Amino acid sequence: MTEKIERQALAVSRGGNGEAATGAGTRLARKAAEMPGSDKADSPDQPLFPWGNKRRFNAYSDFLRRHYGTRLQKLSVNAGFSCPNRDGRKGWGGCVFCNNSAFNPSYCEPSKPIRVQLEEGKAFHAWRYRKSVKYIAYFQAYSNTYAPLEVLKARYEEALSVPGVAGLAIGTRPDCVNEEILDYLARLSERCLLHLEMGIESCYDKSLRWMKRGHGFECARKAFASASERGIPTGTHLILGLPSQSREEDLEQAEMVSSLPVQSLKLHQLQIIKGTALERDYASDPDRFRFFSLEEYIDFVIDFTERLSPSICIERFSGEAPPRFQAGPTFGMIRADMVLQRIEKRMEERDTWQGKLAQQSAADSSHG
Ligand code: SF4
Repeated sequence: MTEKIERQALAVSRGGNGEAATGAGTRLARKAAEMPGSDKADSPDQPLFPWGNKRRFNAYSDFLRRHYGTRLQKLSVNAGFSCPNRDGRKGWGGCVFCNNSAFNPSYCEPSKPIRVQLEEGKAFHAWRYRKSVKYIAYFQAYSNTYAPLEVLKARYEEALSVPGVAGLAIGTRPDCVNEEILDYLARLSERCLLHLEMGIESCYDKSLRWMKRGHGFECARKAFASASERGIPTGTHLILGLPSQSREEDLEQAEMVSSLPVQSLKLHQLQIIKGTALERDYASDPDRFRFFSLEEYIDFVIDFTERLSPSICIERFSGEAPPRFQAGPTFGMIRADMVLQRIEKRMEERDTWQGKLAQQSAADSSHG
């Protein structure tokens, strides 16, 4: 076990995703050196796993704390952007699973200035996380690079002007970035923490068509490469359990995502959300869907994690839309943090860890 972990540690420290990812890693390391408390990354404790702690997966929250020396709380913002899959440019109805209301916190109303949303978000989280001293403004709803550059600049700058906001997480689609936007984001990432989240949801074109995404996987591959060439840290999302994919295909995506120069990944189990095309599909043909039970999901997501590159941080393992939005089977009243605890406990029982079964090509080439 130890020798394999050491080889993976070498791959992580050298940029396990190859040269393209290394630019973002270097940029992050430089930003880290500028943040207070960043010396915590050099703890004298001997790390057990490649990502520098004893947890059995590379947690994005730990990565942020390690590199920025403090807990960073995300504050959602609805900046009033639209989406090309809703305004007719790519489609009208949106992706089949999408209902932005299901994850939009109550303080996020596009009618309120971004500054006000962020101040209300700070107040909302203040009682829960008294130790949070820095915030990331999370441009979450719709496609947050889908506007002329001057509009984007004004909205991002408004967020960065709020006291305590150390950076931006920008959620968008792979087909909503271009060279001009990426060049600007690269410059912006020189002066603040920046994370560009481009959801792909699936690595298979047949599923992207089924979800009515309006773009293919190659579009995503190019967008991640272009961002990475500029040193912009990126993240992505996948939905596990789509009826258009087999469980084996779900699992194979671990390798496919590992081949992308992404820094972080969010995993979600398929949920049927009210007010979506998926709700109607499910109501008319429920037998087409096969949902994970909680126990199945925990083991499945561990199988996935074993095959995922150890250099990719995992930001979440499961989704949790509020119960009032659920229109299909769920994991019950269990919160995502409890699911996470169960996953970590099960990883210990199985004596496994992220990347245990990942392709060794990155690690092996690092020895050359
Ligand atoms: S998931 Fe994103 S891209 Fe799809 S319709 Fe919703 S906002 Fe648009």
